[in-house]
Amino acid sequence: MNRRDFIVSSPALVSALPLLSARAVKGRTAQVICTWNNPRAAEAAMAKYAGDGSALDMVEAGAKVPESDAGDTSVGYGGLPDQSGRVTLDACIMDHEMNCGAVCYVQGYAHPISIARAVMERTDHVMLAGAGAEAFAKKHAFARKRLITKNAKQALKEWKRNQVQGNNHDTIGVLGRDMNGRIAGACSTSGRAYKLPGRVGDSPIIGAGLYVDGAVGAAAATGMGEHIQTVLGSFVVVEMMRQGKSPDEACAMAVDRVISAFPDSPEQAAFVALSRDGVYGAHARLAGFTVCIAGDEGIEVYDANYTEANR
Ligand code: ASP
Repeated sequence: MNRRDFIVSSPALVSALPLLSARAVKGRTAQVICTWNNPRAAEAAMAKYAGDGSALDMVEAGAKVPESDAGDTSVGYGGLPDQSGRVTLDACIMDHEMNCGAVCYVQGYAHPISIARAVMERTDHVMLAGAGAEAFAKKHAFARKRLITKNAKQALKEWKRNQVQGNNHDTIGVLGRDMNGRIAGACSTSGRAYKLPGRVGDSPIIGAGLYVDGAVGAAAATGMGEHIQTVLGSFVVVEMMRQGKSPDEACAMAVDRVISAFPDSPEQAAFVALSRDGVYGAHARLAGFTVCIAGDEGIEVYDANYTEANR
């Protein structure tokens, strides 16, 4: 099959995707890898790449796409609320020189990833939370937005009736490599649907939802935040790459850590990785994790390899 055949313009095509593991690791390089079926996020990151933007510009632009998408129910606008009906956002960003910024429990702002970047670039802190993060965003004139949608309100009503929750994971993790070979990563989420008010997951935690070391590579996570933050999953992926594992192997080893810590869980945990020389990889605990890859040959979406059959 021609690689171009895999270019995805519609989510309906995802079911026919080839397994990521079917591709040869050698020479498998990309400028961008992101979690889930997010070709428009990859496209936005590639547009920055083509304009000679930095890796930070690439990953920020990528994360902003699902943050604005009402149809993405676990990132930004349209994200599913907590049990009290509030949409609370978490995000972080990191560059190749260990600069990082994060916000958590932010309400009423359109682009938490940009606020996280401002925390990184304009303060000497790493993370701001809740009202403090919102005051900072206000001071720096970030765009406000009412985040809850009609659909999200309806979904909360239904959840209150029957308390049934699917495996709703869609957190955006974007890893990018710019024309100068610098890497960066971004991660943004509205967290678990119907979480307890105040809950913060892995996504804004440096080392859990995202980690970047310019000398090694970058990793990002999606899935059950409580599991990923317990094992510091993205840090594990980068450390395994440092020890010589391929990005695919390193992601699989982080999944193994999650499985050893939570052997009986039916929840997803998945990782994407990009080495400093642009080799990408991914691995999930369960089937159904798609990743989006962008490079000189276009944008492709793949099913990642996984360790356990869905339960
Ligand atoms: N990891 C996110 C969290 O637990 C959820 C997700 O990936 O969908 O907040």
